[in-house]
Amino acid sequence: MKRRNFIKAASLTGAGVLLSRCIGATDPIISEEPYNEQPIIKNKPIIISTWNHGIAANKAAWEKLESGGSALDAVEAGVRVTESDASNRSVGLGGLPDRDGNVTLDACIMNHESECGAVAYLQNIENPISVARKVMEDTPHVMLVGNGAFEFAIEKGFKKKELLTPEAKETWLKWKKSEDLKKPEINSENHDTIGLLAMDKDGNLSGACTTSGWAYKLPGRVGDSPIIGAGLFVDNEIGAACATGMGEAVIRIAGSHTVVELMRYGHSPEEACKLAVERIQKKHKDITGLQVGFIAMNKNGEVGSYSVYAGFNYALKDNANDKMVDAQYDLEW
Ligand code: ASP
Repeated sequence: MKRRNFIKAASLTGAGVLLSRCIGATDPIISEEPYNEQPIIKNKPIIISTWNHGIAANKAAWEKLESGGSALDAVEAGVRVTESDASNRSVGLGGLPDRDGNVTLDACIMNHESECGAVAYLQNIENPISVARKVMEDTPHVMLVGNGAFEFAIEKGFKKKELLTPEAKETWLKWKKSEDLKKPEINSENHDTIGLLAMDKDGNLSGACTTSGWAYKLPGRVGDSPIIGAGLFVDNEIGAACATGMGEAVIRIAGSHTVVELMRYGHSPEEACKLAVERIQKKHKDITGLQVGFIAMNKNGEVGSYSVYAGFNYALKDNANDKMVDAQYDLEW
């Protein structure tokens, strides 16, 4: 039996999971052989994305796929809807600002060829995901931040725009009066990145992740969402994953990369998300209120999710479904 098949077969049992983990501990490279087996994908194209705003994003992504677009086109088109939705307080236009009232955006994108682009701490540009795609396609770099990212966007034809809407400003001003400025809290009202993963008709995977980040964050703070491997990771041989929730915790375990690697070792998408969530819990002495959720899709078109606390959900779209799915979780609030 080929070594990779042995690992896959072994991992079908609990003992096998342990065995594959042990093998992983001493010899993490199990994909040296080319992945020439074609997985049977029953349901492509398929799209999943985080939270309720995922339904509208999936619709736009689906239209791209239906009209012959690639998974990359789809993920970009999908999350642009959320970025441009002024009523959304956690992504793009209308997102809640940092402590000082500045809306600063983080985003990244990755395709089936492991090409990726990202922007962080970007201000006054409505669709950071499209700037991230330009970074990927038009520069030798992966990430541009701050003013450099803004200047690059302007050079590429993006328009400068005020992103702090009157409603978001009012919410921020209320917070300023009532909260301890030094301790921004992450809770269900002040976060909700959109992460969107798609598999196109050719079976290729891409992902996009975009956010205004932790509301009232310290100026200069960047979370997991624009960091390839933390907020998003795609390996077209294995699968894709993205994260939402407290970015600092996701970065500490290189969350999305961890989920994809766990799938590489034979875990289902949901198991992989669960193991990553458990690792986050293990690495934090106090998990109180620390919400993180992952969604994942493997090369077979299977999907899954898991979060630390109850309440996380994701939007699923394929030929048979267009619905919200509640994530499995470990803790009640
Ligand atoms: N992960 C995002 C961040 O830490 C926030 C979120 O998803 O709610 O910036």
